[in-house]
Amino acid sequence: MRALIVSDVHSNIEALSAVVADAWGRGGFNQVWCLGDTVGYGPDPGDCISLLREHDLVAVAGNHDYAAVGKRSVHDFNGSARAAAQWTAANLSAGDADFLSGLPLVETRDPFTLVHGSLRQPIDEYLLDSDSARATFALLTTRHCLVGHSHIPFICAENDGSPKFKLFTEGAVFPLEHERLILNPGSVGQPRDRDPRPSYAIFDEDSLTIERHRVTYGILETQKKMEAAGLPQYLIDRLDHGV
Ligand code: ZN
Repeated sequence: MRALIVSDVHSNIEALSAVVADAWGRGGFNQVWCLGDTVGYGPDPGDCISLLREHDLVAVAGNHDYAAVGKRSVHDFNGSARAAAQWTAANLSAGDADFLSGLPLVETRDPFTLVHGSLRQPIDEYLLDSDSARATFALLTTRHCLVGHSHIPFICAENDGSPKFKLFTEGAVFPLEHERLILNPGSVGQPRDRDPRPSYAIFDEDSLTIERHRVTYGILETQKKMEAAGLPQYLIDRLDHGV
């Protein structure tokens, strides 16, 4: 079994299509595991949900998914995120809204737990420091944990209670051994590690390995659609810079 692991697609169908095509070119996959924030920010929420659902999909909720269907308040979103959430809410089919509302906060697929933010605060906490990593390790009932939300790829090793963040190097194949890990595959639709290329991972159950890759896509096409939809200019511009 091979799983394509995506997170923070953010309604960017050009980025998601490029990732799916690239993953097929690297040996393919049997399932798609989605770590949340399928919608929000971008112009194609429905197309992204449809493309994911064409596959054997395991998906959890992100803060933007719940915000788009009124299951989470947007009071702490910045102005452009709030505007995009309102635009998304107005541009979702009833079926897509039902799909987003029904997403669970946490899923497990051995040896992983899948969650958007952290196990302490599933849709809201940015897991980026030792304190948040330690709290998630304490709640983790599987060997490893997959998170998204920060849009920053990393691997964090439990390291006897002193969590250690390492680079999730592009193109490298990591063996999953006994040490427990928290991994973030990076963002498909709105990377924020100063690299605008969509980032994703593939888990191979037979070899017990995980690898991360990046792809290029037609950013301009996405940006033109965002402009036509009247989405905030700040969201359009940031795609160029991966921030
Ligand atoms: Zn996100």
